[in-house]
Amino acid sequence: MNHMNGLIERAYGVLDGKELDKGLAMELSAIHGKDIPDLTALAHKVRIKFSPGTHICTIMNAKSGQCAEDCRYCAQSLHSNADIETYPMMSAENILTAAGRAYSNGADCFGIVTSGHGYTEENDEFHEILAAADSIHQRYPSLDVGTSLGVLSDGTARLLAEHGIRHYNHNIQVNPSKYGVLVATTHTIEERMETLRLLKRNGIRVCSGGILGLGESMTDRVELAYALRDAGADIIPLNVLVPIQGTALEKSAPPTVMETAKTFAIFRLVNPHAVIKFAAGRETVMKDFQGMLMLAGVNGFLTGGYLTTRGRSVGEDIRFLNEIRVFYS
Ligand code: SF4
Repeated sequence: MNHMNGLIERAYGVLDGKELDKGLAMELSAIHGKDIPDLTALAHKVRIKFSPGTHICTIMNAKSGQCAEDCRYCAQSLHSNADIETYPMMSAENILTAAGRAYSNGADCFGIVTSGHGYTEENDEFHEILAAADSIHQRYPSLDVGTSLGVLSDGTARLLAEHGIRHYNHNIQVNPSKYGVLVATTHTIEERMETLRLLKRNGIRVCSGGILGLGESMTDRVELAYALRDAGADIIPLNVLVPIQGTALEKSAPPTVMETAKTFAIFRLVNPHAVIKFAAGRETVMKDFQGMLMLAGVNGFLTGGYLTTRGRSVGEDIRFLNEIRVFYS
């Protein structure tokens, strides 16, 4: 006797290479209770078939705070009162030292992140990042180097590609049509989407995802999953909001485990070939459920802390991944 929800049965077409119809994705976003483990089990099968392999990456904040943009969740914005450490652009030498730590801890990739609107023109800071990328490639040739520097121009994107940047993180965060309401008013979603196009044009892999818990609905999350598919996102980091005191969202309630599991599974079904990573909120918000969520269609996670919040140690995370790896093959 088959007790599986008929909507989930229909979604099994993804395992045969069919695209998930948006109407069905919307219906799946409303399932609940005991149907959710059936949905995450399908997402896990799809991941194993179309996006095998695990990925762990670490990021470093090479320039912290003092940002004029007004992203509502961000402790680095001048519009927030969050108590964080701020500092100007680090030297290439210090970035190299941090990359060496990531390498010896077993990370697959190392991301250099800077606060601010972005780099549409070359300047001293941008040149420091290029110099850091060159020295990391020279010292640790097997370490995949990525950057997350905000909005780019065709010229700065091309320079990053020429200096061996293989992927670039640039999240669109929410349903694009809600960006101005849920994320920021000092810049537009259009300029962020344009940066994604420039990355593709310059042969840089697009790492773009979102944050759950900004006040969006399940419908908005489904829209985000399709927007990322349409933008050709190769890597999709999914964050669960960690509300930081002093930001506009300090009192936000995080999404439930059930919503998060459903969302991860739907992102996988919409983006079968992408590398999906669980980013911020894994240890701090989802705590006991992080293991379960790792089996909801994701390939890996960010480790070693986030930009302004701490996480578990890299060693602890690698032990965690080794224990659940048995379910990945
Ligand atoms: S997310 Fe980036 S652009 Fe937005 S406020 Fe924070 S540092 Fe600035």
